[in-house]
Amino acid sequence: MKEFSYARADDTPSAVQLGNAHPGTKYLGGGTNLVDLMRETIEAPEALVDVTGISQDIEMLPEGGMLIGAGVKNTTVAAHREVRMRYPMLARAILAGASGQIRNMATVGGNIMQRTRCLYFYDGAARCNKRAPGIGCDAVEGFSRYHAILGASPSCIATHPSDMCVALAALEAVVHLEGPAGARTMALNEVHRLPGERPDLETELAPGELITAVELPSLPFVARSNYRKVRDRSSYAFALVSVASALDIGPDGIVRDVRLALGGVAHKPWRAAAAERALIGKPASEENVRAAAEIELAPAQTYRDNGFKVELAKRVIVASLDDLARRAAL
Ligand code: SF4
Repeated sequence: MKEFSYARADDTPSAVQLGNAHPGTKYLGGGTNLVDLMRETIEAPEALVDVTGISQDIEMLPEGGMLIGAGVKNTTVAAHREVRMRYPMLARAILAGASGQIRNMATVGGNIMQRTRCLYFYDGAARCNKRAPGIGCDAVEGFSRYHAILGASPSCIATHPSDMCVALAALEAVVHLEGPAGARTMALNEVHRLPGERPDLETELAPGELITAVELPSLPFVARSNYRKVRDRSSYAFALVSVASALDIGPDGIVRDVRLALGGVAHKPWRAAAAERALIGKPASEENVRAAAEIELAPAQTYRDNGFKVELAKRVIVASLDDLARRAAL
């Protein structure tokens, strides 16, 4: 591991100041991904600014939403009573991720900023455009069971590994940022990029910007929501396909609103907006949900080992919304 300097931030202004004092500085949250990447010499920051002591609050907002500090541990968010009652898809998504020990360390901000677990990205002997732009991608014709079927490019077919972010995408969460140019907000759905020709650029954050909080909007119908994750083993595994879903059905059985986002299928948490549009105003029948899933997955492109994900994603969407429709009818 390359030598680096370490400083601990006391508050957000000092974190941003330290984070922008030298080029090549990284913010350190729980370290559950960044430290692994440094050990593997994939990341080699000149300096680390430890932000684990700041942005630790969870606040109820006057208009009904919540503001979750970026330094709050994943375990704390998942166990929070209001999160479990009002945003169950988020609590379940977090609990579906990693292990208890990792969730105890991992922070909300770090979860958003974590990098792909593509095996070739971690293998210094492999060609990887994300690690070394322009050298090629060994996953395209290699082992691709865990790789993307939506929004990928010939340069990179990696997936984003987060479960939490899939729920945040469905909830239309807003990310609060602080940087050298001041504070701003950005929709979670705009934070992560598709790979295009520059898979090494993963987010739309400006250099030196720090995530300070995530805002959840008030969405009463999300109190009935879910997160389903299909994976190769029952714990401590990344998603083959996951679905965050919420359904608002009127007394006439017509879908008034629906939220759908997919994990394990793209370089970013994939908001299934086409499927949502196809469902609103229709009965939440299995036939209509299946048709909506077909629309969402129509542009899917598969590789050697991941063709199964297309049908799997459709089936998980149908199972998720069918479950919510049945619960609404009780
Ligand atoms: Fe690298 Fe992306 Fe290709 Fe994986 S899929 S080897 S991360 S360029």
